Amino acid sequence: MIVLGVESSCDETGLALYDTQRGLLAHALHSQIAMHREYGGVVPELASRDHVRRTLPLLNEVMQKAAIQKHDIDAIAYTQGPGLAGALLVGASFACGLGMALNKPVLGVHHLEGHLLSPLLASQPPEFPFIALLVSGGHTQLMRVDGIGAYQLLGETLDDAAGEAFDKSAKLLGLPYPGGPEISRLAEFGNPGVFTFPRPMLHSKDLNFSFSGLKTAVLTVVKNQTANICEQSKADIARGFVDALVDVLVAKCVTAMKESGLKRLVIAGGVGANRQLRAALNAAAAKRRFQVYYPELEFCTDNGAMIAFAGAMRLKKNPAAATRDYGFNVRPRWPLHELSAA
Ligand code: ATP
Ligand code: MG
Ligand code: FE
Repeated sequence: MIVLGVESSCDETGLALYDTQRGLLAHALHSQIAMHREYGGVVPELASRDHVRRTLPLLNEVMQKAAIQKHDIDAIAYTQGPGLAGALLVGASFACGLGMALNKPVLGVHHLEGHLLSPLLASQPPEFPFIALLVSGGHTQLMRVDGIGAYQLLGETLDDAAGEAFDKSAKLLGLPYPGGPEISRLAEFGNPGVFTFPRPMLHSKDLNFSFSGLKTAVLTVVKNQTANICEQSKADIARGFVDALVDVLVAKCVTAMKESGLKRLVIAGGVGANRQLRAALNAAAAKRRFQVYYPELEFCTDNGAMIAFAGAMRLKKNPAAATRDYGFNVRPRWPLHELSAA
C-alpha cells in the first residue's frame, strides 16, 4: 500500500510517499523559514499563501523521485490538526481534491502522532512499548506509547513549550527566527556557570514542565547587561539557558523511565534535533541502562514523511480509517487524547 502524506500545519510544506512494503519512497519539503524571518516569527496568512504555491510542485517532485504514477497511490493522508487554521486548510483541500480526482480515499492525521511516530522511520526503529518525549515548537509532553494510537499522557508543559522557550529566548538575544538552532550553536561558545538559570519544576513530584519563567530569567539578565551586550556574554547566556532547559528535560525523562520500568525512550519533535539535549540524554541512558531513539535529523521538524507514515500505520490496522467522503474539516486545536484509537 502506497500512502501520500501532506503536511502543512505551520511553516513547512512537506509531501512524501510511504510504501508499507518498501518503506519511504520519496519525500520533499519546502521550509518558509526565510520568508518569515524578517517578521521574527510565523505570519499565518503568508504561511497559507505559500503552502498554496508549494504543494503541487512538491507533489510532482515526490512522484518523480519515487518513479510511480499518481494512480499507484492507494490513499492520501493529510495533517488535519493541530496547527494554523489557514495553513491546515490548504493541505486538507489539496489532499481531498486530489483524492476526489483520483478516486482514492483520504485520511486526516494528527500532527503530533506524526511527530511521535517519526523515530520509527529510522533504520533501527524502537519496538513498542516506549516512553516518548515530544519536544516541538508548540508542545512538550511525556507519553507512554503502547502501539499505534495507544498513547497515554504522563506529563506536559503548563505554559511554554520547549521550542517556544528556545525561540523566545533567542529573540531576546537578538538571534533570528527560529531561534532554537541559533541559540544552540551560540551556546557551544559559552562558558558554563557564568549565568545560572532556574530549573523550573525540577523537583515537582510529577512529569510536568514549565518554561515561561526561564524565558523571563533570560529577559532579566539581558536587561541588566550594558546596551551593547558583548558576543561572549551572549554565548554565556545561551549556554546557561540551554543547560537549564536540557537539565529539566533529561531529569523528567529519567523519572519517567524509572516510574514506567520501560527500557526505551523515544525523542520526537524539532527540539529533538538539539545537540546538547542528545548528548545529555545519551549520557543519562548509558548511566541508567536504557536506550534512546531519535528521528533522522531531517524528520525532527515538520515533514511529509511522518504524516505519510502515521497514515500508513493507521490504515494498516484499519483500512476503513480512510474515506471517499471528501468533505473535510480541520482541527486547529486538537488535544492528542481526543484522537481515536487506531
Ligand atoms: P508543533 O509540532 O508542536 O505544532 P512545530 O511544528 O512548530 O510545533 P517542530 O517543527 O517540531 O515544531 O519544531 C520546531 C521547533 O524546534 C522550533 O521551536 C525550533 O526552534 C526548534 N528547534 C529546531 N532545531 C532545534 C535545535 N537544533 N535546537 C533547539 N531547538 C530546535
Ligand atoms: Mg516549522
Ligand atoms: Fe510540528
